[in-house]
Amino acid sequence: MTSEKNTALLEGLREAGTRPDRLIGLSRARQAGPTLICFGGIHGNEPAGVEALERVFAALGSDETVLSRGCFAGIRGNLPALKQGVRYIGEDLNRLWTIDGIKDILGKKETAKSLEEQELTEILRTIAQLLRSERPPFYFIDLHTTSSPTLPFITINDAVINRKFSNQFPVPVILGIEEYLEGPLLSYINELGYVSLGFESGQHLEENAVEHATDFVWLALRFAGLVENTADPDALQREIRLREASLGDQFFYEVFHRHALKDASQFRMAGGFRSFQRAPRGTLLAHDHGEPVYMRRNGLLFMPLYQKQGEEGFFLIRRIPKWALRFSVWLRRFRMQDALVLLPGVQWAQPGGDRLLINLRVARFFSKPFFHLLGYRSKRKDRTHLVLRNRERAARNDDYRETPWFRRSDAKS
Ligand SMILES: [Zn+2]
Repeated sequence: MTSEKNTALLEGLREAGTRPDRLIGLSRARQAGPTLICFGGIHGNEPAGVEALERVFAALGSDETVLSRGCFAGIRGNLPALKQGVRYIGEDLNRLWTIDGIKDILGKKETAKSLEEQELTEILRTIAQLLRSERPPFYFIDLHTTSSPTLPFITINDAVINRKFSNQFPVPVILGIEEYLEGPLLSYINELGYVSLGFESGQHLEENAVEHATDFVWLALRFAGLVENTADPDALQREIRLREASLGDQFFYEVFHRHALKDASQFRMAGGFRSFQRAPRGTLLAHDHGEPVYMRRNGLLFMPLYQKQGEEGFFLIRRIPKWALRFSVWLRRFRMQDALVLLPGVQWAQPGGDRLLINLRVARFFSKPFFHLLGYRSKRKDRTHLVLRNRERAARNDDYRETPWFRRSDAKS
């Protein structure tokens, strides 16, 4: 942290408007290389990620030789909400990151912005400055915790680079949650084409959640190539701890249902549910506005809500078979999707874009899983149309092509 390079980097960030308490830590090795940017506390009631990053930077700070190349930045999320220990003050900072929403916010006068809009602006400028001053490949990790007990897990937007990088961590991976959420930070970064992972390390305020996030960040430093294999003597222990915490579950899952909330204060989850729990059909899950909510389909319960703020009561997930994962990578390689517009009921949403508009009246034969295989994520536009967005078009595969994890083709992805 003492080199001149760090000073120049800090200076650049200060000029970009990054306040000192926005940075949990910043460390740049003498040798240029990849850049890892981690966020903690995007939700203010989830301080575990911040604490984990503080621990990692404290360990790095005493020894300049550990970080062998590249740049590592830790960014605090919602500062006012972190101070108060609440998820957000006025609106959820992790639901503001849509392209149109950001344009809107940046167009406002500073004084007209809400607290969370100010936070977004500063975080965005900080990211932009790091993208300008640092070297690719870039890796982004957003650290979170959940209100219910859970195995540690990764969430990603389904791009092949995300799958491959995630595959190295000994924890389960959830695909496709972004289809159900509007404007999470990581979806925005994903649209810029970079590897971006969410890591949910455990239940809020549990010591375990801090430890799992700490281990995860160390592994990410190693997998991204900033820290040599030999430079972290606890590397093996970290993998073992995470594998044990996730009970050996290293499968890929997809989200297929979201219980949306209009008003979280009117939602009460029934007691004792955890993430990844199998609940038989007919199980009473919750009460929403006094109405009972039952388990209606086969699947695993995911992120049941046990707090007063939030937009989702729970999700349902199911395992993705290995053949489907492999088949979809193969399909994407051949860009089969370009042939889709030849089919009836399928057209580009705008010329030269990355979105397809599907008329469901005509293209009845299409199913959501089919498009998922091709790398598309869908959002329903209206009753008869789906908008599909290609996750692969934006991906900066060339930035990552020479990394060991990109070239490795293994069983899981
Ligand atoms: Zn969160």
